[in-house]
Amino acid sequence: MRLILVGPPGSGKGTQAKLLSERLGLTHIGTGDVLREAIQLQTAAGKQAAPYVTSGRLVPDTIVNELVADRFRRRDRPERFVMDGYPRTVQQAVFFDQVLGQHSLDLTAVVSLLVDEEEVGRRLSGRWGCPRCKALYHTVSKPPKVAGTCDVCGARLEQRDDDREEAVRTRLQEFRQTTADLIRYYRSRGLLCEVPGEGDIEQIY
Ligand code: AMP
Repeated sequence: MRLILVGPPGSGKGTQAKLLSERLGLTHIGTGDVLREAIQLQTAAGKQAAPYVTSGRLVPDTIVNELVADRFRRRDRPERFVMDGYPRTVQQAVFFDQVLGQHSLDLTAVVSLLVDEEEVGRRLSGRWGCPRCKALYHTVSKPPKVAGTCDVCGARLEQRDDDREEAVRTRLQEFRQTTADLIRYYRSRGLLCEVPGEGDIEQIY
């Protein structure tokens, strides 16, 4: 299975991608994670991407496309995967089609998670994550057993810089500006599958 997850920030792309990867053995490729790691390691791409990620703007297509292409150039390129947060623009989608075409891989479906903006705001303001094992928590809906500590690996939980109110506003604006075209692109190719993204995580899955 080869999937793309599309949805606003906080729609649960990361949560569902993690479940899909654990249960179906798909490789989880989250470009947000890839970018945050590049920023932490201070690679050339990371340095270029940092101001965009911190402020909630989309990183230029060429930078993200190159990171993804690189992952698919490697000998251990994934044959079955779930893309979490990529493509986010039509230009990225066209580029990704080319990358997949080069390796004779085609997409199974593009899943659009539907969540309204008020709910997104609630989710992001209480979101905490584990920097080590990537487990996700929420102060209201999924609090850790010990405040501030990861249930799975015991690391100290962190809040993302771009979950601040102003960056969230920018991220939502970026989403609104780019997604309609992206959805149209995949719908016209018969790949789009819309899934209500509110309610029980298992039901959404
Ligand atoms: P995410 O973890 O998916 O919410 O992404 C966090 C941030 O990384 C976004 O707000 C963007 O700044 C950047 N980012 C992640 N994926 C992409 C992408 N496909 N295109 C452009 N920027 C991206």
